Formats: sequence, structure tokens, C-alpha cells
Amino acid sequence: MGNSHQPVLPLESSENHDLEKVMPGDKYGAAIRILTSYRLTVTAPRIAVLNIFLASIVRHLNAEQLCALMLNGGYGIGITTFRRAIYDLASMGPVSRVLVPDQSSRTLTFYELADQPIHRHLYCTQCGAIAEVHDSGYEEALLRRLRPQGLKPANVDAALVGKCSDCQSEALSAGD
Ligand SMILES: [Zn+2]
Ligand SMILES: [Zn+2]
Repeated sequence: MGNSHQPVLPLESSENHDLEKVMPGDKYGAAIRILTSYRLTVTAPRIAVLNIFLASIVRHLNAEQLCALMLNGGYGIGITTFRRAIYDLASMGPVSRVLVPDQSSRTLTFYELADQPIHRHLYCTQCGAIAEVHDSGYEEALLRRLRPQGLKPANVDAALVGKCSDCQSEALSAGD
């Protein structure tokens, strides 16, 4: 497809019936299916967020990266509206958050599609790589431990931070 022009999405619409009319074919079908499976209103900004995740080879993206991809994709949606759609999807279920405690007191926030079982994240403070740890036994044990407390975990993971193995071996070969 290359640089072919993406159709400009219509602005906010609460009628998914209308949206499908405006966007023929199944180009946005996967995004629309995700929204309807969560019983969420189908809007152009939400479709854009999900579509960008579905098309991205990088799984975890921060808001700035999502905005850049949206602008490059020619979706024709205002940044503020688009950002609100990211936050909405993160609080409503289809998108999960990964929080990374930075060196300073800042917290970096990454987003990903909530299409995988609960998993953990390791963040390399040197190169910014994010590795995923899938361990269903661990997650089940954790939930069992949390259940008596009555806490139902939200779809947010606080990443463990450190140096990835690549960055460690680089430091070694550099004679550090
Ligand atoms: Zn690294
Ligand atoms: Zn992840």
C-alpha cells in the first residue's frame, strides 16, 4: 500500500452504522470489532487508536508515539481528541497501561492492546527496550494471594526497571 492516502475519518460519531458506511470494506473492521466486544461507542478517534496499535510492529507505545503515528497516518483527528481517546480506551478495557518509574520522580506511561493474558514488563533504563514476561502460574498465584484482600487488579502493570542483557554486555565489552 505504501504511501497511499488513508481516507480521512469522520469526526466524532456515535453511530457505528454511519461509520461503516463512511469506511467501506473491512479496513477498520478489527478496530470496530474490539470496540463492540467491549460494548463501547464506536468513534473515529477510538478506531484510529486501535488501528494504529493493530498496524504497529512495536507493541508498547507511549502517547507521543501514538500521536506521531496518527499524524503520519493522515487520520485527520485533533491531537486533544485523539489523546482523550487513548485515555478513554485505557480506562475502559481495550487498552492496557504499563507504568515505568523513571530515574527521577517521573513516571513514563506506555500503552498496549489488551489482547494478551495478564503479563509483566521489564524496562531497560539504558535503551528503553520493554520485555514481556508471560507466566500464567505466577499470575494465578498472585491473584489467589490478592483475592482475600478483595482487590481486583486494574489492567495496569508497574514495570520492573533495570538494564537489559544487551546493555549489560555492552558495558562489559566497553571495559566498564
Ligand atoms: Zn537495554
Ligand atoms: Zn505488554
